[in-house]
Amino acid sequence: MNLEIDRDRLAAEIEELAGISDAEPPAVTRIVFSPADLKARAWLIARCEKAGLAIRQDPVGNIFARWAGADANAAAVGTGSHIDAIPNAGKYDGVVGVLGGLEAIRALQRCGARPKHSIELLLFTSEEPTRFGIGCLGSRMLSGAMTPDAARKLVDKDGTSLEEVRRKAGYSAPLEEVKLPSCYYKAFVELHIEQGPLLEQKQIPLGIVTSIAAPASLRITVEGAGGHAGAVLMQERRDALCAAAELILAIEDVAKSSGAIDTVATVGICDVFPGAVNSIPSRVRLTLDIRDTDLARRDAAMRAIEAARQTIAAKRQVAISEEFVNADAPARCAPAIVEALSQACAKHGFASMKMVSRAYHDSLFMSRIAPVAMLFIPCRNGYSHRPDEYASPEDIARGALVLAETLASLAS
Ligand SMILES: [Zn+2]
Repeated sequence: MNLEIDRDRLAAEIEELAGISDAEPPAVTRIVFSPADLKARAWLIARCEKAGLAIRQDPVGNIFARWAGADANAAAVGTGSHIDAIPNAGKYDGVVGVLGGLEAIRALQRCGARPKHSIELLLFTSEEPTRFGIGCLGSRMLSGAMTPDAARKLVDKDGTSLEEVRRKAGYSAPLEEVKLPSCYYKAFVELHIEQGPLLEQKQIPLGIVTSIAAPASLRITVEGAGGHAGAVLMQERRDALCAAAELILAIEDVAKSSGAIDTVATVGICDVFPGAVNSIPSRVRLTLDIRDTDLARRDAAMRAIEAARQTIAAKRQVAISEEFVNADAPARCAPAIVEALSQACAKHGFASMKMVSRAYHDSLFMSRIAPVAMLFIPCRNGYSHRPDEYASPEDIARGALVLAETLASLAS
């Protein structure tokens, strides 16, 4: 089998897709079911059809492009990622896994491979949480991690429901049809840029992911008492922002002292009310994002944060409430797929390293219904979710080649 990736075409397709965007180049903005996203979907479907793939779309807009295997009844081998992009993002996050996956299939077709299992490219709907506030919408529903009833409650910031948005986009069948049976995929492999600096720093071209960190996210509200910045004496105050500041530092301390570098916690939003220069903050809304590769360790960190919350609330006489947005379990990648990826790297003489994915991906949810693994390629300075995100055509082609080799071995 003489596998060859058409590096130039793949690079040109990534550029072309980047042009379908709501931002000025080189930035890319493609919010799920926006006109740009719908145009990009149509563009991708046309390319998949040109490659002879059979298209199926489910009611939440996940797109399946299947290269039929010799045994139509055998479970498929899947690959894919997402093409939605947060505002002012780059060209490569998600896209490398979708167009790299398509090119991997075309490379197998060109060299005359005839796999037993079908190989299917999967485009996930709304990996990014931008529009509906929750990431990995498509894969959550495919895996059953999100129920149709929960999905029907989703609304965007304009108050438009997912139901309305998806119907307008042409997806009208009941959401109950989205979930896949757990025997649907024999294996699922996602190619992705690392979104971190390790591969580049170590000058290793390929990363084989052995586990995906478990994210949890909470909304925290601190309620104190407002008042005049001049008139209320310091001893009398129940300043919500001072309490929030103490909680933020406690959160940082919990993550730093967990004993593992894989524990990370971030407060990324801090809204202060009423937000006036001469007014004591009466209410603060925070978001907490906490992740770990080990569920027990993450849960222990969350308990420590909970204890800090109670102590600070009592000490400062404020009310601190929290609301769970999500708390997902980490994924262990399937040893058989990790091994297939390692062998594919070795076969082509590429160095590789085993690593953890600290960002989460659709594969996290696919792991609930299928054996999964991920393949990472370097991205410059580890930058992602910004316009100067960059992966070289050589690195992308190398990733697509190893993906093709792996798909062939899993589908044989
Ligand atoms: Zn991504």
